[in-house]
Amino acid sequence: MAAKSSILTQSGTVRRAIVVGGGLGGLMTVIKLCEAGIPVDILSLVPVKRSHSACAQGGINASVNIKGEGDSPETHFFETVKGGDFLANQPPAKGMAYAAPGIVFMLDRMGVPFNRTPEGNLDFRRFGGTLFHRTAFAGATTGQQLLYALDEQVRRWETIDVEDDKGVTIPGEKMVRKFEYWDLASLVIDDEGVCRGVIGQDLKNGELRVFRGDAVCLATGGPGMVFGRSTNSVINTGSAAAIAYRQGATYANGEFIQVHPTAIPGTDKLRLISESVRGEGGRVWVPKDRNDKRPGAQIPEGERYYFLEERYPKYKNLVPRDIASREIFRTVVHEGFSAEGQRAAFLDVTHLCKTPSGKAAVRKKLEGVLEIYEKFAGQDPYDNPMKIFPAVHYSMGGLWCDFEKAEDGTLKAQSARNQATSIPGLYASGEVDYQYHGANRLGANSLLSCIYGGMVTGPAMAAWREGAAKSAFDYGSALFDKALAKAKAEHEAFASRTGSEFDVNPYQLHDELGDMMLNKVTVERHNAELDEVLGKIAEMKQRFKRAAALDRASGTMNQPVVFLRHLQGMLDLAHIITKGAREREECRGAHYKPVYDPELHPNDPKAVGRDDQNWLKTTLATYTPEGPALSYEPVDVSLLKLAVRDYGKVKKPAEAPKADANAR
Ligand SMILES: Cc1cc2nc3c(=O)[nH]c(=O)nc-3n(C[C@H](O)[C@H](O)[C@H](O)COP(=O)(O)OP(=O)(O)OC[C@H]3O[C@@H](n4cnc5c(N)ncnc54)[C@H](O)[C@@H]3O)c2cc1C
Repeated sequence: MAAKSSILTQSGTVRRAIVVGGGLGGLMTVIKLCEAGIPVDILSLVPVKRSHSACAQGGINASVNIKGEGDSPETHFFETVKGGDFLANQPPAKGMAYAAPGIVFMLDRMGVPFNRTPEGNLDFRRFGGTLFHRTAFAGATTGQQLLYALDEQVRRWETIDVEDDKGVTIPGEKMVRKFEYWDLASLVIDDEGVCRGVIGQDLKNGELRVFRGDAVCLATGGPGMVFGRSTNSVINTGSAAAIAYRQGATYANGEFIQVHPTAIPGTDKLRLISESVRGEGGRVWVPKDRNDKRPGAQIPEGERYYFLEERYPKYKNLVPRDIASREIFRTVVHEGFSAEGQRAAFLDVTHLCKTPSGKAAVRKKLEGVLEIYEKFAGQDPYDNPMKIFPAVHYSMGGLWCDFEKAEDGTLKAQSARNQATSIPGLYASGEVDYQYHGANRLGANSLLSCIYGGMVTGPAMAAWREGAAKSAFDYGSALFDKALAKAKAEHEAFASRTGSEFDVNPYQLHDELGDMMLNKVTVERHNAELDEVLGKIAEMKQRFKRAAALDRASGTMNQPVVFLRHLQGMLDLAHIITKGAREREECRGAHYKPVYDPELHPNDPKAVGRDDQNWLKTTLATYTPEGPALSYEPVDVSLLKLAVRDYGKVKKPAEAPKADANAR
């Protein structure tokens, strides 16, 4: 029986779809499913309004060309592909760029308080990798405003009754049911390999429960916690993606991890200072004298080295993030410059704040982010240059998903292939997918890809449901009972790790993993170090078998047991990231091996930089108990010619980095 045949089963159960994750990617998927008449269950680790999307500061891209600069969706598409060092499949990137203006106007109509120009138009600021003003923004809290707007829409669906096929209201059944503080424990996959639902765990009492779903979407965000310290929240462990990977989903381009150029150096979370600060005129510099330890405000203009502006006179402080991070890293770590004698550079808006009106203008556009600096660094950034250093920020890699190209080069509307993972019936949207950004994401393209991804995923899930031979709700209970029993057994196995043989503290193991990944698998990568990391990961996976359940409480919620599940996932993802990096013998976007940099090795014929001949390919990782098995598939480059990835660098001989340079 086709899943579409009725919204109700014979026994009166509502046939629902499932979305795990209530950030921008998840909520947009939910809205589109509801618009297609499909009731949805949402599961989320945290209240959806606390999803990590709320932290986004700077803005969302759309080539509206309101300032008459000649910008266009085609240029946005090209710059997205070039920014991603040509590794993005071009049809999804084109679909996203062309949909962007409509998305921003939709958000505006939903009530997002975007900044406006004096004449009332939407205002747009500059971001990295483009010379156009393309980024719509709501002060410096854009993500929060967008999330709240979509949350309101979903709340409306939470009040709307489900109707049966004759339009009769079904008592007590609403279009959306929300399950907040629920963790994904596993997928339910039938004998034919089709995803039929999930097992969720209630974090308030530990209950494990079956959720049947006629299509399932993971919209669970990024895996920053694999690196211990990052700009991400502590919930960003990537656990859901890792569970899907263990159960057969392909993980793509794991090695492409974005390191953001400007975060507050710290020992716990690394708080982001958004690219919007540079978009509004902020400048990066270090004192010219390597021994100058004075506070930034005391260093005269003539004694400052604006290295990004000197090296990239066209894009200045707004080169793409992979480039800006490498330049800051190189300047501080290899060339020995510093800020106040610390391993940092200055990010400066004080020149914009010399007059009361200048200061007011900066406050109007950047208050949210400058407040973060003041709160956590204890200094007023309106009067003092901020100290910043690169930090892990975003994953371009994620669950592999499919797409179907339309005749115009964008995505075919309502194709069940769009955003479909390698497990039939399982979809991915938002940062958890790998689809839009290639080897490096341009700033302000993520909020866009989350919302566009959701707009594509909802209809794709509806199409899948319509075409499916069978509904998850027409199965007997055996499939789901078995999956639930397995999840309970896994939970019990972790919970019973209380004996003296379990002598490994999982939190310490995580710290160790994070430090190692941060030091050896971020801005610069060296094969010898990657080999060392791969050996250590194998050894850590062995030690994980002795990791203890630190809380012995039973019959109630046991957070350390849940953490064991997440740590297992982080070890798997670290393995994918590192192995992908080890195997990829080139420099591409965020993946940089100095040994292939022609600037450092002008006479070495092997140092070709980006190697399109051999590496214009997506890395595909599949799970084996021994670790990820890697294969490669060609990138869809059917729409744009490959070009030189040139941001106008002024050439000067660089100092060669040393092999242990990442150590901090
Ligand atoms: C500090 C910061 C600033 C940023 N600024 C910008 C910006 O200005 N512009 C831009 O384009 N991008 C920005 N980004 C990137 C962007 O914010 C994110 O990539 C994007 O918001 C991710 O949205 P998402 O919907 O994929 O995931 P999230 O918003 O992270 O939501 C994930 C959801 O999944 C749920 N979840 C996770 N794991 C599980 C699980 N195991 N079980 C159940 N539920 C689970 C969570 O509860 C949450 O609801 C920024 C990122 C950071 C860190």
